[in-house]
Amino acid sequence: MKLCEKCGKNPATLPDRNRMGRPIKRICSECHSELLRGDLERVLTNMKKVMQEKTPEQTHSDYEDYMSNMTEPSKRDMEITNEIFKCTQEIDVPVKE
Ligand SMILES: [Zn+2]
Repeated sequence: MKLCEKCGKNPATLPDRNRMGRPIKRICSECHSELLRGDLERVLTNMKKVMQEKTPEQTHSDYEDYMSNMTEPSKRDMEITNEIFKCTQEIDVPVKE
């Protein structure tokens, strides 16, 4: 089995999301979790202001408005957030308390 390209210790089970093209398994879930943690911190920091304004019950149309009004870097952050949500449904991401 192919080993993780990041740590070189664990079997590669997930594709490197930073690489476009075919999803070839390159990194282990442990390293992937680390990446997700970093993403989450950055995204949440950027979204802090918005989160203070939005209620947890925000509707899909609110979300669409939000997306259309965002600048490009923030849009990328939202894409990453969506990826994170998808990934967290697929794998059990350990979260630091
Ligand atoms: Zn690894």
